[in-house]
Amino acid sequence: MDTPKQACWLVRKIFDIRYWFLEKYTSVELHKYYRNGKFSIKKLYISMRPQFQKSLWKKVLTGSKAIPKHRFILWLEVHRKLATFDRLERWGVTVPKECVLCTTKEEESMEHIWFRCDYARTIWTLLLQWLNEKHQIGSWEEEIEWLKRRTANKTRGEILIFLFTAMVYHVWAERNKRRFQGEIVVSNQRIKDIAMELHIVGQRETKWHKVLEKLKNFP
Ligand SMILES: [Zn+2]
Repeated sequence: MDTPKQACWLVRKIFDIRYWFLEKYTSVELHKYYRNGKFSIKKLYISMRPQFQKSLWKKVLTGSKAIPKHRFILWLEVHRKLATFDRLERWGVTVPKECVLCTTKEEESMEHIWFRCDYARTIWTLLLQWLNEKHQIGSWEEEIEWLKRRTANKTRGEILIFLFTAMVYHVWAERNKRRFQGEIVVSNQRIKDIAMELHIVGQRETKWHKVLEKLKNFP
């Protein structure tokens, strides 16, 4: 049946989406969404939704002692709502595609910034070294997974989440500063700012004091 021209926008969209599916999925792939011989829209819908393993980031966001504005940026990033080049392009906004944080000329995307790009990688590496954490940095998902595991130790987990959240905020702030103001803050300065923020917030977190005692020197 053709898309009814007189139908409202929403109905026409629903009709048109069939063509999109047929282009995107082969009949073999579509077979996965059949249950007892009947096509299950629910199954297809669930498989199409971006798959955030809730428990994965929930621990990193809830109960976090991070600074609220830092937490907000992390929340946006977890929900993939930060407007990196690849997303802007999908919205039809034209901006230079190269990452402004490094000199690789790589296209700016979430996958690049976290953590293929040197800028975020350097900050996160040095912060982890500062905390004496022996951990090889992986992808965004791997970092969230690792953080979640580290929350088994409550105090250390809280501090790590604080630092991770602050790092995400500062990297994104730096990206915006470079893209829209043409100004640069070197990663070492960002690291110092994050360390300072940790100590300021740490003053009211008595359980952190013992760990913070060992972090008197800047990373
Ligand atoms: Zn980069």
